[in-house]
Amino acid sequence: MTSLCDPSEPEAFRIVNGAGAGRVVLVCDHASNRVPRRLGTLGLTPSQLDDHIAWDPGAEQVAQGLAQQLDAPLILSSFSRLVIDCNRPLGHPNSIAMISDGVTIPGNVNLSSDERRVRATTLFQPYHDAIDGLLSQRSGHACCLLSIHSFTPILDGQVRPWPVGVSHWDDPISARLMCNALADRGVGPVGNNEPYPITETIDYTIPVHTRKHKIPALMIEIRNDGLCTPLASTVWANHIAAAYLSLEEWLLQDDIGHR
Ligand SMILES: [Zn+2]
Repeated sequence: MTSLCDPSEPEAFRIVNGAGAGRVVLVCDHASNRVPRRLGTLGLTPSQLDDHIAWDPGAEQVAQGLAQQLDAPLILSSFSRLVIDCNRPLGHPNSIAMISDGVTIPGNVNLSSDERRVRATTLFQPYHDAIDGLLSQRSGHACCLLSIHSFTPILDGQVRPWPVGVSHWDDPISARLMCNALADRGVGPVGNNEPYPITETIDYTIPVHTRKHKIPALMIEIRNDGLCTPLASTVWANHIAAAYLSLEEWLLQDDIGHR
């Protein structure tokens, strides 16, 4: 296999509002459940491909709302995390998951190294090159990277009580400020590094781009049962935009060396 997508299929990423004047850069690693036609359905049913194992339902709508409200550029991955997960280091067992939340992914079993390489070069690398390029262009202007995700209310039998969570890699102060700003808006309990902490061995987007560009970064996770309608997504975008702007004010005041 030398090519994964035919010319009629989307590029690996989409950029929305690329010239926006806002100081934040938005990314959405799991925006889509699209699978390249050449891979069929990866052996999954339509309902499995619609489930959280394939993407983050509702995350794109929140990210689009934030791009509009904050006049911010947004980069979205165009393909399912099951083809290759843009937030897992290459070579991680869940980079191209063979099992996700108890579901075997037949199209990911027994892949050759060439098949893995093609997924990485066609989808993963262009997406991250686009983020890197945008952050480089906006060096000195961008003051924060926000990575927008959604999470399932129950995983492995564990109920997740937080309607929203804020995770950081090496920036507990920004995370705490963002948590407090969201809590002040009455959204309910805010997970601090819940439901997922960020670690370098499991996560890719924030550790890699933060290290290179030396920019504060947070992952925002919204529980997906709170994103069932366009209105609900807009309400979450409003909350996150307002909370972010209070964080941004602090980041700009404390521009020199709070990290
Ligand atoms: Zn996600």
